[in-house]
Amino acid sequence: MARSFVQALHANSLRFMDAKDRSEQIFTGIAASPGIAHGQVYLLSEREIKVPKYAILETQFEKEEERLDNAIVETRQQIQTIQEEIRSSIGEDEARIFDAHLLVLEDTALIDESIRDMRRDFCNVENAIWRVGQRYVEAFEQIDDEYLRERSSDIRDVMRRLLSNLTGQQLRHLGEIVKSRVLVANDVTPSDSASMGQSNLLGIVTDAGSKTSHAVIVARSMGIPAVVGLGDFCSKIHSDSVVLVDGYDGKVVVNPSEATLFKYGKLKDKKLSLEKRMIEFTKEASCTRDGSRIDLMANIERAEEAERAVSLGADGIGLFRSEYLFMNGNRLPSEEEQFEAYRLAVTGMNGLPVTIRTLDLGGDKILDSSDVPMYRESNPFLGYRAIRFCLDHEKLFLDQLRAILRASAFGKVRIMYPMISGALELSRANEMFELAKEQLREKGIAFDEDLRAGTMIEIPSAAVAADTLVEGSSFFSVGTNDLIQYLLAVDRLNDRVAHLYEPTHPAVVRTLKMIIDAGRNGGIGVSVCGEVAGDPVMVPLLVGLGVESLSMSPSLLPNVKYVVQNMDMAEARAIAKMALETTDGSLILERLLDFYTSRMDQLY
Ligand code: PEP
Ligand code: MG
Repeated sequence: MARSFVQALHANSLRFMDAKDRSEQIFTGIAASPGIAHGQVYLLSEREIKVPKYAILETQFEKEEERLDNAIVETRQQIQTIQEEIRSSIGEDEARIFDAHLLVLEDTALIDESIRDMRRDFCNVENAIWRVGQRYVEAFEQIDDEYLRERSSDIRDVMRRLLSNLTGQQLRHLGEIVKSRVLVANDVTPSDSASMGQSNLLGIVTDAGSKTSHAVIVARSMGIPAVVGLGDFCSKIHSDSVVLVDGYDGKVVVNPSEATLFKYGKLKDKKLSLEKRMIEFTKEASCTRDGSRIDLMANIERAEEAERAVSLGADGIGLFRSEYLFMNGNRLPSEEEQFEAYRLAVTGMNGLPVTIRTLDLGGDKILDSSDVPMYRESNPFLGYRAIRFCLDHEKLFLDQLRAILRASAFGKVRIMYPMISGALELSRANEMFELAKEQLREKGIAFDEDLRAGTMIEIPSAAVAADTLVEGSSFFSVGTNDLIQYLLAVDRLNDRVAHLYEPTHPAVVRTLKMIIDAGRNGGIGVSVCGEVAGDPVMVPLLVGLGVESLSMSPSLLPNVKYVVQNMDMAEARAIAKMALETTDGSLILERLLDFYTSRMDQLY
């Protein structure tokens, strides 16, 4: 007979317990991805290598130089090995990218200056080379010439590798966490999350982060329980500790007692049986009790997720975050590679629509490639991001547009632009789209001639002037993750202001209403694809305001569908009316929570 989860937890706890006395400790953070995980910690080192600084004696100078020489040799060998791998698996051109890295290592000016600094300041060699490296990076970042400016990322990369060899600190790669562990890190970036699929993570716990950080969104899609925003948790934990992650309630229990494991074992069994029951409802149509249809779509980051979306009853893909194709590797995917990925998603959906969002790089999603340089910005979310970046990189944008268009010959495809701020930007994007169509026509390559682009509304200027965007758009999709951060001036990644990130703020409710009205008056549909769309508590408000389609992480589909199927439009409209009239966002949330509890009680 299969063991119950409670028994499994108990067995695990015995396995992990050691002779030391370890008392239970509970930490509270932000519940970022639902679920319960239990296991040994994998403490991930900081993204940046910690550079030690200590004084040395003159008699140690030679030894330090020798350490540097050895590290340079080791680094060169590592880069050459990577270069060889790339050469045989991808090609000569791509392998040549690493020539620049090897050149940095051979730069005598950089090495000599570091040794001079070490001797002058009597400090350890890694500290000297780190400071000189920083100076070079900063100097290169200031250069006007784009090619030379690009070299700053080469220097940064080589420095990280060199410092890793000097200090013995490992560079991180989530794919290397093969054993089932709970990842504990200061932060998890989107490029980390791009390699999450190859790992076998039980759960994620981070000091920083919020519900809408991209790495958390990926964790949610993959059904990995996560608690974030725990402050300085990393400094309080050892890599041999055992933790229990409660992604429902935002709790992390270190060294959980048997009583705690038993309690959570029961909770997990209960949640699993509820989820099973809700999955039964996914086979039925997504209609309110009084017959209004609400399309429930899935957000995906990888084409392979399409199948899971279908199995959980998705009516289509409402958001394919295409940038993840670009973030898993150090070179850009070609038009052909993109086309294959989009086609895979399209065929995987068996005729249901797939909405592919054009590249949304920038913000917290930084490309780790020397093909297209991306720079550190003081306000990355207000910076060189998404459509702004694409309109400046015409070849890259056209490659993607053609790849999407070609995939439209294999099923129903929709396309949408992220971060549109106004009508001029939209018309420039549409001009590029028409140019991509023309290029395909010239070559006689098939695509869906009726394909017209939609617009993401996620910048306040686009929301206020939504009526001016109707003409160039076939639909609106509201990106509430960004819209809320810009509207309320709350950085979506900053755990210190996470409590101010309030989806039920009256300004958010009114803005949503404005966008929906503009769409309706212009005769186009409005959907929501930010994280609020997958929050079953928020669903009656969104539907009551007039949203016709919601798009979310596939794992959230069953619960949202259950809520849709168990409410009337009249109830949803009454909630929306109340929300538009009140000045207090917490009252709106209270009303929504009451409503949600009443529906879930029926299921219990
Ligand atoms: C959003 O901003 O709501 C959105 C869906 O896009 P992303 O989270 O990828 O920025
Ligand atoms: Mg966005």
